[in-house]
Amino acid sequence: MSPEEFRRHGKQVIDWIADYLAGIESYPVMSQVKPGEIRRALPPEPPEHGEPFEDVLADLDRVLLPGITHWQHPGFFAYYPSNASGPAILGDLLSSGLGVQGMLWVTSPACTELETVVVDWLAGLLGLPDHFRTDARGGGVIQDSASSACLVALLAALHRAGGGRFATHGADRPYTLYVSSQTHSSLEKAARITGLGSARVRVVDVDPRTLAMDPGHLRALLDQDVAAGAVPAMVCATVGTTSTAAIDPVAALGEICRERGIWLHVDAAYAGVAAICPEFRWVNDGVADHADSYSTNPHKWLLTNFDCTVLWTADRAPLLGALSILPEFLINAATSSGSVIDYRDWQVSLGRRFRALKLWSVIRWYGAEGLRAHIRKGVGLAQDLASWIAADPGFEVHEPHPLGLVCFRPRWPGLTGAAADQATTRLMELLNAGGELYMTHTRIDGRVVLRMAIGGVATERRHVEQAWERIRREHAALSAPGH
Ligand SMILES: *Cc1c(COP(=O)(O)O)cnc(C)c1O
Repeated sequence: MSPEEFRRHGKQVIDWIADYLAGIESYPVMSQVKPGEIRRALPPEPPEHGEPFEDVLADLDRVLLPGITHWQHPGFFAYYPSNASGPAILGDLLSSGLGVQGMLWVTSPACTELETVVVDWLAGLLGLPDHFRTDARGGGVIQDSASSACLVALLAALHRAGGGRFATHGADRPYTLYVSSQTHSSLEKAARITGLGSARVRVVDVDPRTLAMDPGHLRALLDQDVAAGAVPAMVCATVGTTSTAAIDPVAALGEICRERGIWLHVDAAYAGVAAICPEFRWVNDGVADHADSYSTNPHKWLLTNFDCTVLWTADRAPLLGALSILPEFLINAATSSGSVIDYRDWQVSLGRRFRALKLWSVIRWYGAEGLRAHIRKGVGLAQDLASWIAADPGFEVHEPHPLGLVCFRPRWPGLTGAAADQATTRLMELLNAGGELYMTHTRIDGRVVLRMAIGGVATERRHVEQAWERIRREHAALSAPGH
């Protein structure tokens, strides 16, 4: 593709995206295709001869769009938001345009140095401690996902717990990892990847009401495990669990970790970015004093297209000790001088995209003020929704719900247990098939509950009002006698 052809098709693509986003409300939020439908509509063999780019765009419209779930639709309330925004899309496009591979400082100094500046900026915006900053002992790095951040944190923790031995000998001691039933599954995955195995993942009890990790039980498990010869390597506390946005007591868990020299990772994938607003800065409670590592996802709520997780550490030495290996072909004067950062040593893969560009674009376009306004809008709408639900005798709302996620349960007079759960699931499926909104479910205390995560870039009050009206209507219809 010549530069002139690129210019022509590039403009078509930008127009396509602008039209798509402008008209996004005309699509059903959740794709309604059946398994295999998209695949069958595509040719089984690749073309022998090149095809015009217009044909690609035509197939995007004709074949692929029906198989798209519209995450940027204002009626998308499922999982957590995965927000895209104009400046992030453009920043990502510039990253693709430069085609830079930033594994080492020397392979593109600006790729590394902009990342350093942007993660330090974000630490400041979120009110994270100064020791997370690159000019201190810590430092931040952009990872592809919170899952990778947790894996990398576990590797650093194992490195420290084994006095450096893990890098050479692997899991040759009975290292253990502490999570709760509400911790993200990526921690168990990390235990498998590092060779600990799922059996070394110890599950700490949660408070049955708040679903927050119970420090007393953590202490009891640690005592028991250490007495049995285990080497506790890491505790993962979550600020804003994936299921219900529950908040673990970081300070209390951190005290226990500090007494025993155990690494504390804080996974704040969803909720961490709320700290950009002073009134939500309590999400950082305990982090400054206790977290050895901390991660949050600008790619969820903070308007930065997937993928963009930022991981900070209080001390980068164990991270680098766990991950750096210098083969001959990567040796260069800048690395040898010790005066540069090579972010390849802070992550699993060698190669890395220039992700800082999109986060930089987002922060510059919105400014701190614009980002705060976005977070506040989501929380405000969620609080309104929760108050409508609480005021309706047909529903009960799960407390607390301090941020953008509201979990609630329809009441089904005459139905209990599994029958009520089935009715709730049926209601959700009907609503999702309607195309106007998309929500998901979880279980609290064994019971199915519905989740509405509010914080989409295009979501306004009217979308939440419409969704609530729709939920009430369908619930009333399903509850009607004889149904
Ligand atoms: C979403 C989420 C994750 C996983 O995020 P990825 O970036 O998709 O890996 C991990 N932890 C928590 C608490 C989450 O909410």
